Amino acid sequence: MSGAAMAATLVASLEAEVAHFSARQGFAPTLAVVLVGSDPASAIYVRRKIAQCAKVGIRSIEHRFDATCTERVLLDIIADLNADPQVHGILVQLPLPAQIDSHKVLDAIDPAKDVDGFHPVNVGRLSSGTGGLLPCTPMGCMMLLESVVADFKGLQAVVIGKSNIVGKPVALLLLERECTVTVTHIHTRGLPDIARTADILVVAAGSPGLVRGDWVKPGAIVIDVGINRQVHDDGTVAILGDVAFEQVHHAGAITPVPGGVGPMTIACLLLNTVKAAKQQSPV
Ligand code: NAD
Repeated sequence: MSGAAMAATLVASLEAEVAHFSARQGFAPTLAVVLVGSDPASAIYVRRKIAQCAKVGIRSIEHRFDATCTERVLLDIIADLNADPQVHGILVQLPLPAQIDSHKVLDAIDPAKDVDGFHPVNVGRLSSGTGGLLPCTPMGCMMLLESVVADFKGLQAVVIGKSNIVGKPVALLLLERECTVTVTHIHTRGLPDIARTADILVVAAGSPGLVRGDWVKPGAIVIDVGINRQVHDDGTVAILGDVAFEQVHHAGAITPVPGGVGPMTIACLLLNTVKAAKQQSPV
């Protein structure tokens, strides 16, 4: 399953929608990105997100702060962005420096502008199946699955990893589609045997090559969310997933890393920004 190809199609289809919105409203859908510190991976992610926004005509505004920035400064900028009617989405790039309480910062974002879907109101809506802005990576995983699964009802789904940003929301979305869901984590016993029961296996552990070929049932659909940077002795960097891709010849479908879930995450951020802009500009 090529996430890169699906994301390119999604992004292309957004262009006309954004142009239509901008012509009607007199302003473009706008995403504010808050970046604190100089973590190289965060800087790369932010650059990619902003480049994709520009490609479809979404305006982005960047607010950068150095690593010593206080929580108060961030809360003040979020209050300003919440109050600005021409800002439709707010994204705070994680992780934040240790002196800042990430939960407090994310909770301060207006849920209507919470394009990452991390605010407790949106988390609550997701768990009760009542709409709201969905977190981008889980949304991307579901779109990839929908491209190959005709009927989710009754399928055994196993999720490896229980983080708030990937594992738990993916599990809730699969449950919403009537799968029988098992959520596993670092302390789960007998993980290979549990994985082998899966018709749908979503892996978000951050452990390169964790899922071996013999953990995967023939015909299973495998979504590899993992992004693990491996630096070789010669300084080159390889990006590895959580699944030993080369061992999984027998899956019904599998996402590669890179080029799988990653591009879909960004495409879903754009989708959420346009959705948020439309909801805040009802004409
Ligand atoms: P996290 O560290 O917050 O959570 C990892 C989860 O995996 C935990 O619940 C932990 O218990 C579990 N886990 C770790 N090692 C395990 C093991 N050996 N066996 C079973 N369970 C294990 O991580 P996260 O933020 O959910 O991210 C997970 C991975 O997904 C990372 O590699 C991250 O870079 C990647 N990621 C990718 C995208 C994307 O857009 N493709 C987005 C978010 C995260």
